[in-house]
Amino acid sequence: MPILRSAFISLSRNQTMRRFLENSAVGRRMSSRFVAGKDLSDALRVAKAVNDQGMAVTLDSLGESVSTEAEAMEAAEIYQQLLEQIAALKLNANISVKLTQMGLEQSPELAEQIAESLVKHAHATGNFVRIDMEDSTLTQATLNIVRRLNARPDLHGSIGVVIQAYLYRSQADIEQLIADGIRVRLCKGAYKEPAEVAFPSKADVDQNFVRLSKLLLESRIYHGIASHDEAMIEAAKAFAGKNGIDPSRFEFQMLYGVRRDLQRKLVKEGYNVRVYIPFGQEWYPYFMRRLAERPANVLFLAKNFFRS
Ligand SMILES: Cc1cc2nc3c(=O)[nH]c(=O)nc-3n(C[C@H](O)[C@H](O)[C@H](O)COP(=O)(O)OP(=O)(O)OC[C@H]3O[C@@H](n4cnc5c(N)ncnc54)[C@H](O)[C@@H]3O)c2cc1C
Repeated sequence: MPILRSAFISLSRNQTMRRFLENSAVGRRMSSRFVAGKDLSDALRVAKAVNDQGMAVTLDSLGESVSTEAEAMEAAEIYQQLLEQIAALKLNANISVKLTQMGLEQSPELAEQIAESLVKHAHATGNFVRIDMEDSTLTQATLNIVRRLNARPDLHGSIGVVIQAYLYRSQADIEQLIADGIRVRLCKGAYKEPAEVAFPSKADVDQNFVRLSKLLLESRIYHGIASHDEAMIEAAKAFAGKNGIDPSRFEFQMLYGVRRDLQRKLVKEGYNVRVYIPFGQEWYPYFMRRLAERPANVLFLAKNFFRS
């Protein structure tokens, strides 16, 4: 793993730096490139603006790894409010949820109960819950919960999950999820993983991403291809075109603030695009992972910071 990527991923776990940046005006200003704002109202305002540009959104209330049940319930309440507001404002939006924020590491039962209540709410309002994927120690527990909830006739189709192309296990997971009729978001993977579980080289991750995209595209289920990498996007477009898969049968997904030019280009070409919009107080680990993906972002942020 390149040194800078590794350094930013380590920094994402540094509590002193986190406390300092999350509570400082400097930190908040830096993060605004990738984070919609602190409050739910910020997220809804940005979601509407993105919808107005012809793109769907998925909303992420930032936070991960809570330590008490009360914190998990508090995090869940924000998502319940989001689902209500999305319906009331008729936004083209769903929600993205991390199970560690719902208490997965303390009590898988609690995380499952909270996920169930969110999926019930989503089902009742014609919406959808995407469960984000975290590090590989949580992959199996996350998939178990998603598959159990999706198997319930009253929740079927209202929950989906994320698969990371860097993990060796992902092809088998995708085959299982397709057999279950579960919607998948495919991404490369954002965590620091050992070579025992994940491809260490970018070329192998990219090759696997293309292979897995093809499995998803030909499955007749509506999946999301989440990448800013033009080679990944071109490969998906070419495969779909060659196999008569209409653009309405899948979507591209990208992060708020990343490759806005490419997002607009895809919309113009007639593809479905969904933008992942994070908001909230706890933006630090998310922000550091974005810097890890592209350390040149530090220069970009610094230039804009001093310019404005
Ligand atoms: C909608 C969405 C949801 C995601 N959900 C998850 C999840 O649940 N779990 C998980 O592990 N990961 C998740 N990720 C992150 C993902 O795993 C990658 O870390 C991230 O998308 C970067 O990979 P890439 O495919 O864009 O390709 P890369 O090879 O990393 O990047 C290709 C090109 O994209 C551009 N780019 C990429 N990242 C950035 C950036 N931060 N800033 C500016 N330019 C950039 C650069 O031009 C770069 O050269 C998600 C990503 C997206 C888009």
